[in-house]
Amino acid sequence: MTDLSTPITTVVGAKTGALLKSEFEIESVEDLLRHYPRRYEQRGALTDLGSLEIGDHVTVQAQVKSFKNLKNAKGGTRQEVVISDGTGSLALMFFNQHWREKDLAPGRQGLFAGQVSVFNNKRQLTHPEYELLADFTEVNADDYAEAFLPVYPATKKLQTWTIERSVDLVLAGLGEVEDSLPVEIRKSQNLMDLTIALREIHKPSSLESLDASRLRLKWDEALALQVVLAIQRHEEEAWPAISRSEKPDGLLAAFDARLPFTLTKGQQDVAKTIAQEMTAGHPMHRLLQGEVGSGKTVVAVRAMLTVVDSGGQAALLAPTEVLAAQHFRAITNLLGPLAQRGRLGAHDEGTGVTLLTGSMTTAARRQALLDITSGQAGIVIGTHALLEERVDFFDLGLVVIDEQHRFGVEQRATLVAKAGSDRRPHVLVMTATPIPRTVAMTAFGALDISTLSELPAGRSPITTHVILATEQPSHLTRAWERVVEEVAAGHQVYVVVPRIASQEDKELAPGQRQAIALEDLAPQLISGPLSGVRVDVMHGQMSGADKDDVMQRFANGPAHSDGIDVLISTTVIEVGVDVANATMMVIMDADRFGISSLHQLRGRVGRGSAPGLCLLVTEAPPFSPARERLAAVASTNDGFELAALDLEQRREGDVLGRNQSGARSSLKLVSILRDEEILEQARIAAVAIVSRDPELVTQPALARAVQSLIDQARAEFVKKS
Ligand code: ADP
Ligand code: MG
Repeated sequence: MTDLSTPITTVVGAKTGALLKSEFEIESVEDLLRHYPRRYEQRGALTDLGSLEIGDHVTVQAQVKSFKNLKNAKGGTRQEVVISDGTGSLALMFFNQHWREKDLAPGRQGLFAGQVSVFNNKRQLTHPEYELLADFTEVNADDYAEAFLPVYPATKKLQTWTIERSVDLVLAGLGEVEDSLPVEIRKSQNLMDLTIALREIHKPSSLESLDASRLRLKWDEALALQVVLAIQRHEEEAWPAISRSEKPDGLLAAFDARLPFTLTKGQQDVAKTIAQEMTAGHPMHRLLQGEVGSGKTVVAVRAMLTVVDSGGQAALLAPTEVLAAQHFRAITNLLGPLAQRGRLGAHDEGTGVTLLTGSMTTAARRQALLDITSGQAGIVIGTHALLEERVDFFDLGLVVIDEQHRFGVEQRATLVAKAGSDRRPHVLVMTATPIPRTVAMTAFGALDISTLSELPAGRSPITTHVILATEQPSHLTRAWERVVEEVAAGHQVYVVVPRIASQEDKELAPGQRQAIALEDLAPQLISGPLSGVRVDVMHGQMSGADKDDVMQRFANGPAHSDGIDVLISTTVIEVGVDVANATMMVIMDADRFGISSLHQLRGRVGRGSAPGLCLLVTEAPPFSPARERLAAVASTNDGFELAALDLEQRREGDVLGRNQSGARSSLKLVSILRDEEILEQARIAAVAIVSRDPELVTQPALARAVQSLIDQARAEFVKKS
């Protein structure tokens, strides 16, 4: 008798077994049964051939309409077969295979699989694989009695019908299987047994039971995932952390006293939550999300000062050197004399603020490392350089991670471990990319979430317009005039381009052109429309020191002797750069950026009291998705609305980011976006299970499912690194 752990080769034989392994890493009966059909064909209802796209690997059910044996110019023959499903037709092409005529007689029905290509303006499959149904007269035979024909994720070497036959063999020999879903959950959620669900998803007896089987199997994935997260959290919470609280008349109090503005209600609420959580004896894990410019940094600085007040250190990890340097400047400014411990004019309660990045000189780095180790630096700001082994904190009490989606889970773990082997720091992660709760929870592990939804008072909204460079070239001319006017009014402007250099040697798809390059545009602007203003450039290939110099001069403002009026740059300025005097941004080839990038980018302007203007320049054709995307960005400033739109247009995998938990690969049925309800219910169930039985001793089958999820995530991680 086979069970789920039986090696697949013992059921399907060595040859098919080897294919299953090489194509889909299927090794056990369970692996195969969890290789779910991608879709189902209903017998009789033929696929919409008209909807096939070039390059798709497809399996279609259709009928042979005609068979032609043709001679090629060079002496060979070719066989042109036309198949149809009633809505469209498709050519099959074979070379020198006239014997196919007896297979592919007009009227025969079958499944045809191959890659869609175009020849003579017609869609075709070249040398497709096929399997013919029994003769017409036999269509109602038992073999074809079932209503739904599963179509599996397949490859060129392993066709869907081979997989289907393997599944048939497995199901024929399979008895009752052990159910990994605890019986209480099955009862309370009214879910199908695993044994039945595994049969139904491969061989649905009706649409209703197919739905029920999918729901049940989604639960398997959702629960295993949530149990992994719950265990992670349980373990993290089991670590001790040092309780950190503000000192009366300490640094935080001095900071609040000199803050030039009052905190928004949202900032106050989050600050209170954070203060409370950091007094607990176990580590805080909080995600702070909020629009660009919503004032997350101030909240983070207050948390850092709380830790410094209590004698500890805080580290802020930023994704780029530009951003780290920017944070360093902004925080030093906000702190004023409070950041000057030991120096003349310093405040009694001051602390050291230290920057650590990869491009620092050896001497500067040595000093920074020393300050970090000795505790002189209460606040440490840095890039990936902070993760290096030689960075050794005196007493790391809080880790703040900015733009967390740019970092992987492992990187967070590396920094967190620097608090010592016997305790954990508090953790605050910040992101300006709003994401649905379940996505956040899955991508970022078990974090609590706070959201800053209001912008500080006195901000002027950003107006965004789309400029159609090919259709309305005069608008682009006007845009450059507007840039000059903006500068004349004492403001500053960003011009953003998609790439540094043009890629002459790159092959372009038909109708595509080179993206506008900084190297080409900058000289044109400097000698042309922007000749009267001070222009400089910044891009990712410049050294850290050069970037920093440009950014510093741009931040100095136009009044400064070496100030910069217009900064032409790549997306190095995408995240977090904060120059309040910048009021206008022109984004060239805006269609080459994603929705969230555009939203992030334009968040760089309108940060002061003057209104912001963003121009999205594009040559995308009318009615193209790119143009719709730009129109959407222009129509709203609501980051959450745009995030939802973005998610719709992208696959979820991209949302989670390649660096995030590998766990998603095991989410075959459950969708982090659409199955929010299941994921939430599963989370509640998982927390209950783990708090009762963290080792899962009473749930051996669930424990195995969870272990296999962890193993998979680990394997993915190893593959990637
Ligand atoms: P975020 O990191 O969320 O994009 P920042 O923290 O950089 O936003 O804040 C943007 C700007 O707004 C900064 O110049 C900051 O000093 C300022 N700011 C923050 N909070 C307030 C507030 N409550 N009132 C006025 N200005 C604020
Ligand atoms: Mg910020």
